Amino acid sequence: MKKILVTGAQGQIGSELVTTLRENYGTSNIVATDIKENMNEDGPFEIVDVTNAEDLFSVAKKYEVDTIMHLAALLSARAEAIPQKAWDLNMGGLMNALEVARELNLQIFTPSSIGAFGPATPKKNTPQDTIQRPTTMYGVNKVAGELLCDYYYSRFGVDTRGVRFPGLISYVAPPGGGTTDYAVEIYYEALKNKSYTSYIAENTYMDMMYMPDALNAIMKLMEADSDQLEHRNAFNISSISAAPDDFAREIKKHIPDFEISYNVDPVRQEIADSWPDSIDSTVASKEWGFAPVYNLEGMTKDMLEKLKTK
Ligand code: NAD
Repeated sequence: MKKILVTGAQGQIGSELVTTLRENYGTSNIVATDIKENMNEDGPFEIVDVTNAEDLFSVAKKYEVDTIMHLAALLSARAEAIPQKAWDLNMGGLMNALEVARELNLQIFTPSSIGAFGPATPKKNTPQDTIQRPTTMYGVNKVAGELLCDYYYSRFGVDTRGVRFPGLISYVAPPGGGTTDYAVEIYYEALKNKSYTSYIAENTYMDMMYMPDALNAIMKLMEADSDQLEHRNAFNISSISAAPDDFAREIKKHIPDFEISYNVDPVRQEIADSWPDSIDSTVASKEWGFAPVYNLEGMTKDMLEKLKTK
């Protein structure tokens, strides 16, 4: 992994991943791409629509990259509002990225999600290999994507790798329309208004992770020895299982008069109810050393400090 093309680089993950990759692999070796204009002039950037296979191919070839990190996608809540468009982007974009990886012999990283599970999945300590019958378009896309990545590895020998991300929490870029976005908004509102109205019910548990742990996980998985990876794509990874009430309790330790209230959004609540409460990440730890640093306490302290200075 020496020269990397990132798709969807202006999103919540991409905007931090590009900076971290540039620190680790050199600015000129990271080619950021998105359909949105570049906000950060620091290194190579190209407008690339991932549904346009030729554009993606020619930019990958022009920069002679050896790796694609494919992040362009439509997330869970937004995908539910426009499911046909979600299929076109999430499946069409992935297929194009896999084809470019096959044709140019590249390594490729694709994130799946806890959204790849469904109501029939065991809810607690959800195993790596288990029932996956999601009820959302996003989940359907993620399961199909996991299988497609497995297929490109076994059929064409493409070095595909991936994780099932939980809800990611960061202070840099806003989240892009997922079901766990409340867990980012709550910190902004706590500092601004000392109150937050959650659209997710108080006792709904979901998996979460702080962005620095997510970025480290991507680099660690991509650097891992290929022979060690039995579950090549879609490793369960998580570091926190929490409900809105848990976030509120932790925030109150820093902002004692913080108040949480609830106005549940039925669409996002239904999605949340179909996902696990907590997933088991031990296979990722065993196969490539996944080892997150932040728990809810450490993340809350850091988020509030960083947002205050921001
Ligand atoms: P995001 O919505 O914040 O960013 C997506 C980016 O893709 C945006 O910058 C957007 O402009 C770009 N994009 C949209 N359509 C495009 C197109 N046709 N061509 C090129 N770029 C296009 O998403 P994110 O949170 O950064 O997520 C990235 C990946 O990680 C997705 O596959 C998502 O499903 C997965 N994931 C994210 C989370 C999370 O909490 N953020 C959790 C689980 C999985």
